[in-house]
Amino acid sequence: MAVVAAGLLALSACGDAGNDSDDGADGPDVEVEKQDFEAGTRMAELQKAGKVKIGVKYDQPGVGFKSATDDDPSGFDPEIGEILAAKLGIDDDDIEWVESVSANREPFLQNGTVDFVIASYSITDDRRKVVGQAGPYYVTGQSLLVAKDDDSISGPEDLKGKKVCSVTGSTSIKTVEEEFGATPAGFDTYSECVQQLKNGSVDAVTTDAAILLGYAAEDPDKLKVVGEPFSEERYGIGYGKDYPELCEFVNETLTSAFEDGTWKEAFDATLGKGGAEAGDPPALDECA
Ligand code: GLU
Repeated sequence: MAVVAAGLLALSACGDAGNDSDDGADGPDVEVEKQDFEAGTRMAELQKAGKVKIGVKYDQPGVGFKSATDDDPSGFDPEIGEILAAKLGIDDDDIEWVESVSANREPFLQNGTVDFVIASYSITDDRRKVVGQAGPYYVTGQSLLVAKDDDSISGPEDLKGKKVCSVTGSTSIKTVEEEFGATPAGFDTYSECVQQLKNGSVDAVTTDAAILLGYAAEDPDKLKVVGEPFSEERYGIGYGKDYPELCEFVNETLTSAFEDGTWKEAFDATLGKGGAEAGDPPALDECA
């Protein structure tokens, strides 16, 4: 039924996923077609409310970032959030951004703190037991960040016995501990980990290459990313399990963003600035 509801969407107007407000954002100025939704669906409710709450990271340059003086977050994840909101007819200005860290993403969706999580949020079977995750809209892999002058670590096989920082509630900390015998140091955020690395308290920081490249680009004299990615992280858009119809909505929104170039523009304006290539858009998982 939800699938049918989403499939019956009619085009009605245009929203702007980019620069409604001059938020200092990096976003492309692209038109996204707003849709009308069947009454009773979560999409119709959000559209009627005219606002949406989206959880993003605030400390991951290129992915999701907001300094104390920024009005709004910037990065690939907020751009995807703006595309999603525009499809609901919701302006950038009417998005309520909520800072999320890795460990609070499921609780935020379960208790309604946010409507969507778009926060370097890998799709996993465990997470899909408690929340909805549609996508992926991007695929990256776990990698390592070390001090520029450290030649002792060039890949995950060098981590045995090393102190490696990652974030509680992430796939990264699990992988490095279970598969590579590192001694994990768990913090709430990756920026805390980068601090630990810079002051010599840990030997490496591990998480997705997309995130680590942003930190390395900010401090290229002190930090470097080493080795090949050693996991597959498929970034999905999280939503509450009570609203399964959101899956088709997200997939349709992503499909049109893939096809009309909006997705690539958003990538090039954010992660692409650090030298990453957008490549082909990923294949989307089917909704259950
Ligand atoms: N993508 C991985 C995850 O969802 C690591 C990055 C993060 O913690 O946000 O756990």
